[in-house]
Formats: sequence, structure tokens, C-alpha cells
Amino acid sequence: MGEVERKIPFIIHKNIEFVPFISHASFDKTPREWVNIKFPNEDKYPDLAVAKFEAVRCWACGQCELSYMANWAMNCPSATFPANYRKAAYRGQGKHMTVLGLLQGFIEPSPEIVHVAYFCNLCGNCTLQCSMGIGSDPVISAMALRRMLVKLGMGPLPAHKRFAEYIKKYHNPYGEPHENRFAFMKKKIEKKKADIVYFAGCTGPYRTPEVCEATVNLLELANADFTVLYGDEWCCGSPLYMVGLWEEAKETLEHDISVIESLGASKVITSCAGCFRQLHEGYKKLGISKPSFEVLHSSQLFAEYLNSGKLKPKSTPTDKVVTYHDPCHLGRHVGVFDEPREILANIPGLKFIEFERTAHNAWCCGAGAGVMSGFPELARFAATERLKEAKGIGANYVSSACPFCELNLKRTEDAMKFGIEIGDILLLLEKSLR
Ligand code: SF4
Ligand code: SF4
Repeated sequence: MGEVERKIPFIIHKNIEFVPFISHASFDKTPREWVNIKFPNEDKYPDLAVAKFEAVRCWACGQCELSYMANWAMNCPSATFPANYRKAAYRGQGKHMTVLGLLQGFIEPSPEIVHVAYFCNLCGNCTLQCSMGIGSDPVISAMALRRMLVKLGMGPLPAHKRFAEYIKKYHNPYGEPHENRFAFMKKKIEKKKADIVYFAGCTGPYRTPEVCEATVNLLELANADFTVLYGDEWCCGSPLYMVGLWEEAKETLEHDISVIESLGASKVITSCAGCFRQLHEGYKKLGISKPSFEVLHSSQLFAEYLNSGKLKPKSTPTDKVVTYHDPCHLGRHVGVFDEPREILANIPGLKFIEFERTAHNAWCCGAGAGVMSGFPELARFAATERLKEAKGIGANYVSSACPFCELNLKRTEDAMKFGIEIGDILLLLEKSLR
């Protein structure tokens, strides 16, 4: 099939206020055939090839900014943020239209496109909402745009370059001393061959060490055969991957996989949803061989221990009304929704209530995909919305299963004072075993 045969209207305002709307390349062909149309700039932007089939199927319905199961509430942080409210460029649709506009030559890479590509949590709400109808995935388009921008030298953002330098130098994005990663451990655990490796991550040890401490205590209470990596643990590379720095992400993930494999572990568990997703899925995207071990989030292992009777909660850890915030990288990205709830359900006397936007339809906390460092105003806005929602349902304890979500929610609570406690589900579980 040849070049696009007709003129395609493309309207883009210089401040991206309007929908970058494209009539599809050909109305007399089916969506499957559209993908065979050769766009003029395909050779110029090879990184967009992966998004073409997704983008051509978007029919610009706008559903990707909503949640179909939560009374059609707004559910895209990027397009709900006041300055961008309902601007199509910022919802999932906008990522597709930007890809098509570039491929067709109606727009050129620009600072506005950098903003659209990175002012997004890659939370996957758009992917989920669209999968109910068309099934075109905006996260693929957003990732392709980020990768293209990195290759063109226009991305990532300066804040991302800074954490990339820290990861290279200190093996964590916070620039903290590498040797302090396991400072949270009260007593030394031997680094040895073991069935389970606990991959502590970066945010847990350096920002919410109580989560890591509770994890180690629970592993000991369950008599698990486990170990940790100490100085051999490097950042999993998730932040690098998300902002388009794939070579750097590959290097650090390959390192981690090889040290875990060298210990002969059959399983690795993580505290952080981002580490979980990266170890679980990242190797496929980065061209690394499948690891020899199983990757579990800590909630999956401890739900199994509760079901088998290895852990027996006996007391109520809090009188507060607890809700559960689904981390996007754990829930929508990989599909772990039930196990964290099983943990909470096993705690005697716990008063629990679900968010209105919950599970597949959860509102993102706003921290992920380079947003907390790149656009702290979006991270604060999304976390504020989540805390307001918690207040609205009558919860005064927001639990989660990801130190990074908890960090953003906690910082926002400290600034906004909603009177809500934030904590990991494992803190509640550990307290209930005392
Ligand atoms: S990505 Fe899907 S939900 Fe969003 S506008 Fe396109 S077709 Fe509609
Ligand atoms: S990934 Fe999330 S923040 Fe980004 S466009 Fe989709 S719904 Fe919006």
C-alpha cells in the first residue's frame, strides 16, 4: 500500500488546547488495513512504529479520561489536572493523535509534545477504559513518544536526567549512599543461597523503612527461607524505563536478575509495585532472557502464608476505618487486585471500606512514571484528589501496597492535613500478629 492518498485535517493549537484531531487515513479500509498504510514520516520516527496499530484505531471518543465503573468519574490525572481539564491532548487519546500527527507530518517534535508525553502517570486507566470498546492502548503511544524524544535528545526532563545520574552513581534515584540501603535492618540477616530473595527496592529503604522492617519481621515470623542482596541490590530500573532511558534500565535490571539467579532463589518478592512490575514484565520489553525465578509482590506471598496458616493474625491493629489504594503498577499493569484485600480481610476486627474508584477503576496516586520528580504539581494534585475521596467515603486510614504511593500520599497529607493516616497493608498485618 502506498503513501496516504488524501489530505488529513489536523488541528493543533500552539498551546495544545484543542484536540489534535485526525480523520482516519482511509474510511474505505478496515482498522486492520489502516496499519498497512505507509505514513510519510515512518522512517523518520522508527520508535513510533510500535504505537501505529494502537493509534490508528483510536476513534477519539474521549472515554479514556473517565471510569466506566465509577459513575463515569474523571479518572485520568493528566486530563483532570485543572490547567489541562478535559483537554484531549492530555488524555490517552492525545497520545495517539500526537503519534499520528508526527507520522503524518502535520506536527514536528516540540516542547509542547514533550509536555504531553511526560505530563502523564502511565497509570493505565486509559488502557483499561478503552479495552472495554476499541482496545487501543494509549500507554503504548505515550511510551513510544517518550522513547522517540529521548532518541531525538529532547527527553527525558532535567529532573529525570538527575535521577538517572544518581542511579548510575549510587544505584538509587534519591542520591542516597548505596551502603545505607539495608540500614533499616535491626539485626543482620546472612546473605546466602535461599529459596526467597527479598528485593527491598529504593523508596522503601530510603523513604519508608518501616515497610521494609515489617516485611523482614513477617518473613521471620513465617519461618521463611529468605535472604537479601545488600550491596548487590541496584535500582530495578523502573524509573529509567518509564521515562524512556531503556539502555540504562536494561543495564541495572540485568545486574539485579543475575545476582538473584546466582543465589539460586526460586522466588523474589518486592515491596514496591514498580519493582514488581519491572522484574515481572521489564525483561520482555528490554530484550533480557526470562529470569529463572518467580516474581511475586510481597502481598502475594503473605496472602499465601495466611491461607496456609503460617501466619495467624490475632488482634485488631487500628480502630480507624481503613480503605485500600490500588497501586497502578500492581493492579492495572500486572493484575494483582485480590491478594492485598485478602490480607486486610484476614485481620480480625478491621473496619474496611472500598474507594468508589477502586481496583481496575482506581484513581492513580499521581507519583509514578517520572511525575513526582518531573511535575510535582501533578503528583500533589492527584494525591489530594485521592485523600479527598477517602474522606468522602468515611475512611481515615489509607492503606496501600507500594512505598512510592505511600510516600506521595503521606507528603500530601502532611501538607494538606485531611486527618488521614497512611500506611502499608503489611504494617497492619504485622501489628495484628503481635
Ligand atoms: S484511546 Fe480509546 S477510549 Fe480513548 S479516545 Fe481513543 S478510542 Fe476512545
Ligand atoms: S496513563 Fe493515566 S494519566 Fe496517562 S493518559 Fe492514560 S489515564 Fe491519563
